[in-house]
Amino acid sequence: MEFLSTSLLELIVQTSTNLPPDVRAAMSLAANTETPGTQSSQALDIVLSNIDMAQQDEGPICQDTGLPTFVVHTPVGVNQIRIKKAIREAVAEATKLGKLRPNSVDSLTGANTGNNLGEETPVVHLEQWEQDEIEVKLILKGGGCENKNIQYSVPCNLDHLGRADRNLEGVRKCILHAVWQAQGQGCAPGVLGVCIGSDRAHGYDLAKEQLFRTLDDVNPNPTLAKLEAEIMEEANKLGVGAMGFGGKSSLIGCKIRAANRLPASFFVSVAYECWAFRRLGVGLDASTGAITRWLYRDPSRAIERMARGEGFPLTGREVILTPPLTEAQMRALKVGDVVLINGDMFTGRDNVHAYLMKNPPPFDLNGAALYHCGPVMLKQGDEWSVKAAGPTTSIREEPYQGDVIRRYGVRAVIGKGGMGPKTLAALKECGAVYLNGIGGAAQYYARTMEKVLGVKLTEFGIPEAMWHIRVKNFAAIVTMDAHGNSLHADVEHATGEALEGLAAAPRG
Ligand code: SF4
Repeated sequence: MEFLSTSLLELIVQTSTNLPPDVRAAMSLAANTETPGTQSSQALDIVLSNIDMAQQDEGPICQDTGLPTFVVHTPVGVNQIRIKKAIREAVAEATKLGKLRPNSVDSLTGANTGNNLGEETPVVHLEQWEQDEIEVKLILKGGGCENKNIQYSVPCNLDHLGRADRNLEGVRKCILHAVWQAQGQGCAPGVLGVCIGSDRAHGYDLAKEQLFRTLDDVNPNPTLAKLEAEIMEEANKLGVGAMGFGGKSSLIGCKIRAANRLPASFFVSVAYECWAFRRLGVGLDASTGAITRWLYRDPSRAIERMARGEGFPLTGREVILTPPLTEAQMRALKVGDVVLINGDMFTGRDNVHAYLMKNPPPFDLNGAALYHCGPVMLKQGDEWSVKAAGPTTSIREEPYQGDVIRRYGVRAVIGKGGMGPKTLAALKECGAVYLNGIGGAAQYYARTMEKVLGVKLTEFGIPEAMWHIRVKNFAAIVTMDAHGNSLHADVEHATGEALEGLAAAPRG
């Protein structure tokens, strides 16, 4: 098995940096469907450019490379212990090379292991089969979309949809609700893997397994094929749009299976996957470990450029922000404005926010732009370089953000998916704004980062440390302003009404 390690490393690198053709095709279609000039269309322009950049530079498409999950089939007689060991070595090597972010955190101590190895990480499912080759499939599903997975125990009552009963109509309501509840927090447009039935734990496994189907396949079960098509049509009428900005592209795939259940239980389990749908697979020669074929893609087909025109065209109407920012500058902004940040910003996510509730900040945050981001960083000599740095889901900081703004004078909070009423109130009171970056656009944003000026709180691990970074032309959209307006609240309200319309529509 002299090629096993290199083959597995190649699988990880390609999965992290080069989206498969079915996802590329679905994202092209989504971008072409969106109304030009809208915020969703602008977001998709950045996403398409980001896909190109990741492939060209072999950099992570999104900085959150998830909990690597491998599904392996081996011929009878192959040593599975050896395969698992080789997977762990390849994961550690890919982390060292900056292709995976160190994402394995000890749940008791909070310590990041630094190499993606730890208790039950990576996840490896091993099966035997009666074929001659080894097949390895890999999915990298990040935390933002993982947090939007949802499980329903029907019958149940759903916001805007009323009661979901133990029948296909009830299942349909649950799946539509899953799209609605995700809004932009799972980096829409998304893909759903769904399991109808089974038990709580296995139902989620089976839902996730559906994500290994190609987006353009047709379910062999006609009832499920019909349901998948209906969900695609209806979900894309909801108006969630890319990043939850409102728009026509909310879903790029829906894959459903059914499994038998206990008489007393009826679960509908939904695995929500973001647009950065990174899954690939390889067939390996069982004696050498060399790659004999790729799953989900045709290596003889040239990789098509995704970006339309010049990617994200600047209009000249963008507002240039150069921190430190003033209250007057922030009060002049309104929802919908596109800003370009030039100058210094600081990263801070979960651990930093919890820290700031009890301790003074390690950097002066007066007038600062605070970026919810857990970047992929590599140290080369004495210098840090940014390998991937898109925004993380902001709502996790909702319990802290208002206090952080009030105490330390932060003027702009940057993240994705929006924040809630507590933060909105603090923005209004203090004269600050929330800026929505484009979720998953990790390469796009890494290219705006000219220099890493410093880092503190490294004891929290690379993604959770507080980084001081100089940026140029960092683009984001004002989605919550200092006048009490929130695009996120508006879209949630409008899509809720659309959901009610779908619930009331007569069924054929
Ligand atoms: S695209 Fe968004 S949801 Fe997906 S992994 Fe990246 S940050 Fe998380």
